[in-house]
Amino acid sequence: MRVLVADDDIISRAVVKALLLKWGYEVLEAGDGNQAWDILKEKDSPHLVLLDWVMPGINGLELCRRLRQSGDNTYHYIILLTGRDSKEDIIGGLNAGADDYITKPFMPKELEVRLRVGRRILDLQQSLNDALEVQRHQAQHDRLTGIFNHVEILNILEKELDRARRQNGNLAVIMGDLDHFKKVNDTYGHVAGDAVLVEVAARMKNNIRLYDSGGRYGGEEFLLVLPGCNAEETMTIAYRILKSISKEPVMFNNTPITVTISLGVAVNRAGEKTTTTELVQLADAALYQAKQSGRNRVELTPHFSSPSSDLP
Ligand code: GH3
Ligand code: MG
Ligand code: MG
Repeated sequence: MRVLVADDDIISRAVVKALLLKWGYEVLEAGDGNQAWDILKEKDSPHLVLLDWVMPGINGLELCRRLRQSGDNTYHYIILLTGRDSKEDIIGGLNAGADDYITKPFMPKELEVRLRVGRRILDLQQSLNDALEVQRHQAQHDRLTGIFNHVEILNILEKELDRARRQNGNLAVIMGDLDHFKKVNDTYGHVAGDAVLVEVAARMKNNIRLYDSGGRYGGEEFLLVLPGCNAEETMTIAYRILKSISKEPVMFNNTPITVTISLGVAVNRAGEKTTTTELVQLADAALYQAKQSGRNRVELTPHFSSPSSDLP
């Protein structure tokens, strides 16, 4: 683990550094408060910090305050290592945001065990963050396909629609529904059906741009959000998706399963004020049209005057 040692006294810094290296830490040094702050502001700054109180530039106490007020997500465990040893100083140091306080001259063993306490707290913090991250991911993604779930894709649509309004840009959505998917389940079983859903989601993702989003809207229904796309561009993407799904069967246990998809496209053009619900309804209506017209097709919402399109 990396430790920042901030102390203007070269000898004192060298002593602490030698001990830390002996105990297996990696050491970053700062000779004054400004240098320390520069390091601490960096994204990958050491999480364990040993601060002297009296330093030129920003003093240790002020550094504690700044770190605690920075609203940074990473927690820094701060030990004040200082010659100031009155009760008032200790209270002041802890009040400013230090986690621990060691007075100089110190016993190496004491520093060693107090650093270990800091590591324990930081490890706990890390596992808590990891668990939160997993939970956040699970709350936003579909378990089977790994793409966004129903709630999250609608959240994204809402945000993107808002952004499109502010920037006076287009926003397109594509609603897709696998054709006769019930038959796939009936013929090959639900496990095979699940495998098809996973593969279809992957093919969809491969055919959208990095800043587009794809979600599983329902069982075998998918919703794609494409910022900045006009009707023509969206139709091109929709055909690409359609072809990527129909052209090669999905292999399941060496059995080829052919699937097709019907897609409905709707676009909120710059200046229009379609709501998220309306946009989804429009794409849904176009999808319904695609189903009615024979499936394995893309339809542009009738809201726009272009004629419906057959497979190119
Ligand atoms: P259409 O072309 O009109 O859309 O016909 P369809 O058979 O695809 O539509 P329908 O709504 O009748 O059936 C959808 C099927 O999707 C039925 C349901 O069992 C299946 N399905 C939904 N979610 C899952 C899933 O998570 N796994 C599997 N294997 N099947 C699913
Ligand atoms: Mg279907
Ligand atoms: Mg359906």
